Amino acid sequence: MTAHVLVKDEFLLSRILSRQRTAFDRDGAPALDQRKADLRKLKAAVLARRKEIEDALNADFGNRSAYETRIMELVPIIQSINYLKRNLRAWMRPERRRVAIHFTGARAYVVQQPLGVIGIISPWNYPLSLALIPLATALAAGNRVMLKPSELAPATATFLKRMLEDLYGEDRVSVVTGGADVGATFASLPFDHLAFTGSTSVGKLVMKKAAENLVPVTLELGGKSPVVLGPDADIETAAMRIAYGKLANAGQTCIAPDYVLVPDKNAETFLSAYRASVATLYPNGIASDTYTSIISTRHLDRLRDLVADAKKKGARIVDVAPSTDARNESRKFTPVVILGATSDMAIMREEIFGPVLPVVTYRNIDGAIAFINDRPRPLALYYFGGDGEARRNVLARTTSGNVTINDTLMHYVQNALPFGGIGGSGMGAYHGPEGFKSFSHAKGIFEQSRWNLGGTLRPPFDRLTDMAIRYLLW
Ligand code: NAD
Repeated sequence: MTAHVLVKDEFLLSRILSRQRTAFDRDGAPALDQRKADLRKLKAAVLARRKEIEDALNADFGNRSAYETRIMELVPIIQSINYLKRNLRAWMRPERRRVAIHFTGARAYVVQQPLGVIGIISPWNYPLSLALIPLATALAAGNRVMLKPSELAPATATFLKRMLEDLYGEDRVSVVTGGADVGATFASLPFDHLAFTGSTSVGKLVMKKAAENLVPVTLELGGKSPVVLGPDADIETAAMRIAYGKLANAGQTCIAPDYVLVPDKNAETFLSAYRASVATLYPNGIASDTYTSIISTRHLDRLRDLVADAKKKGARIVDVAPSTDARNESRKFTPVVILGATSDMAIMREEIFGPVLPVVTYRNIDGAIAFINDRPRPLALYYFGGDGEARRNVLARTTSGNVTINDTLMHYVQNALPFGGIGGSGMGAYHGPEGFKSFSHAKGIFEQSRWNLGGTLRPPFDRLTDMAIRYLLW
């Protein structure tokens, strides 16, 4: 893209931001009824356009079943909106705080004030829900929003632009489409807050740009989320739940189990159970309609390279869903397990983001914990097994954004839980009351009373001042 076009982008984007901020400053924080109406409108529009949404996502992926879109995008969006609507009144209520003893009689309280204009940059892997859930949260907190969806899901981006600008008008919600260069220009705008969901490497660039304007950021990034199969885990149940979490959206999920740590004596049993689970979930292997395609040929090639690198360096590659219908044009990637993966293989250094599952064996639970702690802090951690010492140790001695015990992915759909990463997997959170607070300013307000002991601390000092000081220093 030429410098001329970039300058034009910057000008257009700055103009939208300035229009939104002027409108925000003019109108102030919207009342509860208005926010609820905004959420109701969004819910109704999403439900009314279900078919259009399912078609757009299918077009973006090449193949994505309507069920995948319903369960992984529509249900979380609608449930999040319902949760926001239910809790909004309580979150918006000013919260009383105690005043120090010498201010008795005065009042202190915290008001959650909207920040103003929130910038949201979203990824392609769940292109609808990862745009609309942050957007609904920002609107619930009373803000205006500029959204930059991913260029790799263009049909969804076009849909979002049409739907949102129809619903709210450009000075409340504006959708900016484009690729990395538009993203970079977007990230350099002086928003009141910038929420980014995407890769760790782009997250760093975004934070750098935001820092130039001191814009606070929420970074929802990726990474390698481990599964620990405890010594007492029910292997069959675990294998089924890991297979579900790994293969949903063909592994293109930020919180997909990346690799699994298995006690060394259980590796072969786990492999058989995983293979059986994949066969149950996808009876026709990759030819199953419900098995999603990889988003682009570039991403498909990247997965092939990861597996080839592991094979070249001595790993055993096990195809767990052999299929005769391996047509290239469907961009589907056969689920594989990798045994004997080592730290020098790219597959153990990069986030996989596809249906490839390395099985790493461990001798004792301390070894599994050390393996996790040798790597950047993950977005999610999964543990399978009873409430014994091994589980207590894993939970106490590892740090991850979130944890699900005895299942995968499911912490994400608990609306009342905060969702977010830590360290390399991100910062800040949305979902739950934390999400509302991320997009609000907790403004502390002090309201003085006609008289209290605090007044005696001002000149002219007298006997009452001495008494007050003696009392306060006691
Ligand atoms: P990405 O980082 O390539 O792109 C994300 C968004 O950033 C897109 O809209 C893109 O256009 C934009 N962008 C690209 N370059 C930019 C730049 N220089 N400045 C500003 N914006 C820029 O990520 P992706 O490939 O779309 O998504 C996959 C990644 O996202 C994975 O790492 C995955 O783990 C992560 N992810 C995290 C979560 C989470 O909630 N933590 C959810 C989904 C995906």
